[in-house]
Amino acid sequence: MSGMLLNFRLARVTRGAANDRQRRSRFTIPASVEGVLLVASVFWALTANRSFFSAAVQDRPLSDVHTWGFALALGVLLVAVHFLLLALVTNRWTVKPLLAVLIVATAIAAHFMQSYGVYLDPSMLRNVVRTDVAEARELVSWGLLPPLAVYAALPLILLWRVDIVRRPWPRAFVIRAVAVLLAAATAAVALLLVFQPLSSMMRKHKEVRYLITPANYLWSLASVAGSDARGATLARQPIGLDAVPGASWATRSRPLFVVVVVGETARAANWGLNGYQRPTTPELAALPLISFQQVTSCGTNTEVSVPCMFAPVGRRNYDAARINASESLLHVLARAGVGVHWRDNQSGCKAVCQGLPTDSVIALDPPGLCAAGRCLDAGLLHGLDERLAQAAGTQLLVLHQIGNHGPSYFRRYPAEYGRFTPACENDDLGRCTREEIVNAFDNALLYTDHVLASLIGKLQAHADRIDAAVVYVSDHGESLGENNLYLHGIPYAIAPSEQTSVPMFVWLSAGLRNSTGIDLACLQQRAQQPASHDHLFHSLLGLLDVRTALYEADWDLFAGCRARPA
Ligand SMILES: [Zn+2]
Repeated sequence: MSGMLLNFRLARVTRGAANDRQRRSRFTIPASVEGVLLVASVFWALTANRSFFSAAVQDRPLSDVHTWGFALALGVLLVAVHFLLLALVTNRWTVKPLLAVLIVATAIAAHFMQSYGVYLDPSMLRNVVRTDVAEARELVSWGLLPPLAVYAALPLILLWRVDIVRRPWPRAFVIRAVAVLLAAATAAVALLLVFQPLSSMMRKHKEVRYLITPANYLWSLASVAGSDARGATLARQPIGLDAVPGASWATRSRPLFVVVVVGETARAANWGLNGYQRPTTPELAALPLISFQQVTSCGTNTEVSVPCMFAPVGRRNYDAARINASESLLHVLARAGVGVHWRDNQSGCKAVCQGLPTDSVIALDPPGLCAAGRCLDAGLLHGLDERLAQAAGTQLLVLHQIGNHGPSYFRRYPAEYGRFTPACENDDLGRCTREEIVNAFDNALLYTDHVLASLIGKLQAHADRIDAAVVYVSDHGESLGENNLYLHGIPYAIAPSEQTSVPMFVWLSAGLRNSTGIDLACLQQRAQQPASHDHLFHSLLGLLDVRTALYEADWDLFAGCRARPA
């Protein structure tokens, strides 16, 4: 009896499986690799390239039929190029997994490009691949769900149902060769049709090519991987091998303690000390410091700016490969005997402090300041009093802030600094009004103001024993909705001033002013003139009195303001 039952059950199970197979085969879509690639290329051209098309036709009248012809030819070109690239690297086994990854990545890429106006160039991709978990978590918000559902989940379901038809390999090879040739010919014809306007557009706005999705991020990723592989094989080139302490070191009787604060995403336009109508820097405004009014950053993102700020030649003759293959200012200073220390509250020093003493706020875990992988900037001052009490000789402390790191500005300050209201309290800026976004940004500046003023307060408290200075400068600015741009990272050549104009100030203790003879009135005058990240390297060499042939007095902000030669 039980045997019969078992047989019966088995029969049901097998019949069920057969039904399943039948049902599934009814829902599968038989297709060739080439067919799938063509559909995917058309799909991306239509759904992921809105930013590219609007940039391409922005100077043309929409009522003109030529505009539409131009856009159509560009569309055909995009399809043909993407098809061609994919057809060269896929086969029957790899096409589905590869497309699945690309579909999801492209949906995410298109969402960020359209929401924030970003360009996926190599510098942006370097930022993306070097991002940490806490940073990524803030970018992943509920706002991503609708575009993912429409542009990723639905296509993935279709892709899952595709059944790639098998062909004997000689036939498959011939078909692929013909398809590749056809795509190349189509691309060539489309290119010829729009060559004149396209080449003039590419000359004027080279960056537009970084809007072509998904080719932009694939190209940029390959470029970053290539240059990292090259960089990894090279040891960092030592610089400033001749660095020695200047004459003042022998005569100085007190310790010298210089703090450089590398700010994050603070923009000059919202900086109270630079004339913003809101008092975003009330505590600093009460201190005797010199605020530079026209400072430009080296880059529009951290990955470019931070290494550049500590390089002898920055933006004025920008060469990312040379900067990233060389030692930084910190190595030069350490060689001369300066006690160098980097304390990080963000994504690391980008090799600027490689091999030198460092610590991070998250690892120190000061009580009440850290949560979910992030710490408030007050943590940068943790244990500073003890450090100052023991300070001897010549010291340089670099503090790398989290500052105004977006989009979650509201996570950068404790509740008592939420003075400008209503403030955006959503990780997805798309859910807030511009006013709320600016309020949250300004609140984060208020908190930076407090942290910097506290830092100066601590140095002041040790001024009877130590000569001290603070140099604060932000790494780049931020767009807050001007021209529909948000965040930062626009290619430098076309970056709006909101992303490149940054706050910078210098505070010098009375003892330091005495010992160096730096004249504040003179420095105040200098602060009205343009300055840039390029000045940091030489100004710090001057301030710390480290002698090396790398030093250029023209780039030392203090050089013209010393009463006696340093
Ligand atoms: Zn930054």
